[in-house]
Amino acid sequence: MSTKRIVVLGAGPAGVAVAIGLRRAGEEVLLVGEPRRFAAVEGVSARVLGALHKAGFARAVRCFAPPSQRCVTWDGTRSRANWESLVDRQAFDRAALEDARSAGVRVVADRIVSCVSAVSGHYVEVDHDGRRTTFEADFVVEARGRAAPGQGSARVRGAETVSLLQYWVGPPATAGSAVESCADGWVWMAALPDGRRYLQLTLDVATAALPPKRELGAFCRARFEAIDAARPFLEGAEPVGEPHARTSTPVLQEDVVGHDWIRVGDAAMAVDPLSGNGIFQALSSALQAPAVIGTLLHDPDRAALARRFHQERIENLFFHFARIGRDFYAMESRWQDEPFWRTRRAWPDAQPIHPDTSAADLQVMRRPVVSDGRIVEDEVVVTPGQPLGIWHVDGVRLAPLVRALHACGSQTSAEAVLRAALGGDATRAARVAAWLREQGWL
Ligand code: FAD
Repeated sequence: MSTKRIVVLGAGPAGVAVAIGLRRAGEEVLLVGEPRRFAAVEGVSARVLGALHKAGFARAVRCFAPPSQRCVTWDGTRSRANWESLVDRQAFDRAALEDARSAGVRVVADRIVSCVSAVSGHYVEVDHDGRRTTFEADFVVEARGRAAPGQGSARVRGAETVSLLQYWVGPPATAGSAVESCADGWVWMAALPDGRRYLQLTLDVATAALPPKRELGAFCRARFEAIDAARPFLEGAEPVGEPHARTSTPVLQEDVVGHDWIRVGDAAMAVDPLSGNGIFQALSSALQAPAVIGTLLHDPDRAALARRFHQERIENLFFHFARIGRDFYAMESRWQDEPFWRTRRAWPDAQPIHPDTSAADLQVMRRPVVSDGRIVEDEVVVTPGQPLGIWHVDGVRLAPLVRALHACGSQTSAEAVLRAALGGDATRAARVAAWLREQGWL
């Protein structure tokens, strides 16, 4: 068991996943997080549910409603191809805290007032009903989402975007969600079986003609009532309380890891909610963090490698989701010259998500990888679409196989080369060859 004191700041999906991961790796960890203050419903795919379960969110996963259809009206066309599971985020976050406790994490469910870093360590001040307590830490994990300090010093920011969330209540309904584009943004709507409805209007901060705060409720209501796809969500329902404004600007932080701290989830990079992948990306960055932290704390010789691993992975994830968002915005052709659409269909760049890659583009390089819960360096296969490299395919290291294929003449069949490189394992050689053919590399 490590004697290092690790404190995780923030108990959303990223903070809880890191805390559970650190416990599983045998670290002592304190998770400090105030439950989220506003009601929101979010949706995830079956793949995310599976990843949450594996990461230890057994109770939190039970908060999701069974998968329901999402109706998408985009570029004037309606489709019902997608399914998502909806969740009340406050219920999810409360259950996730219980999951952390069950995994042996020490939990303090209070507000963090400050986190001061000094040469001697970090000092985390927490408020419990007006009573202040300070916890000392050798290492801190910043997981306070978009509320984490330092948002002003981001390296990359997409177009400033706001989502107005209005909560309605109506008669019990079939669970379901819908997305519809409009000239100045897009709307997401969700209905839970108990009659709760969440309607969310996403607009450009610079060009949206928003009314004063006191008129925001009437403004949202009028906007939702004008949306065709919103009709089934509003039938017999009435708004409750005031709308809540959430910033939804894509943000990538400049530095996401140091020798005794790391940023994960939205605190490191936050994506446009259009991608519907926020919880997935939060989890992706959090699941790799325990290996990075373990290396920083216990293998200082490889500290620079571990920092490089986290920094590159966060940046890669950010641009991947930014380009997914860009291509989705570009599919809407009716308002291409409207400010909302013009900016977003061209950001962050023109690079394709999946660049064409031929066998000649494959390069063997040394890169940081995760092995046995630590960051180490090994040979991987780097391509234009996979700049961080592919390490294993079908449980075997890819780099030696690509090297063997490059070295052999065209007279020898690829299967024979792979079989020889795999010690005569013909079945696995055939599987790897099939995978390489699928990529167009054989
Ligand atoms: P968070 O979930 O934000 O967790 C941070 C935690 O830290 C919170 O519990 C907060 O209360 C706590 N905290 C913050 N400050 C303090 C403090 N001072 N003291 C104590 N605790 C503190 N993602 C999806 O997958 N599907 C969706 O449908 C979806 N819809 C979205 C809609 C909008 C409008 C927005 C803005 C985002 C949406 N997302 C969606 C993204 C998703 O909400 C986030 O990406 C995800 O929750 C990030 O997880 P996290 O753990 O990094 O941060």
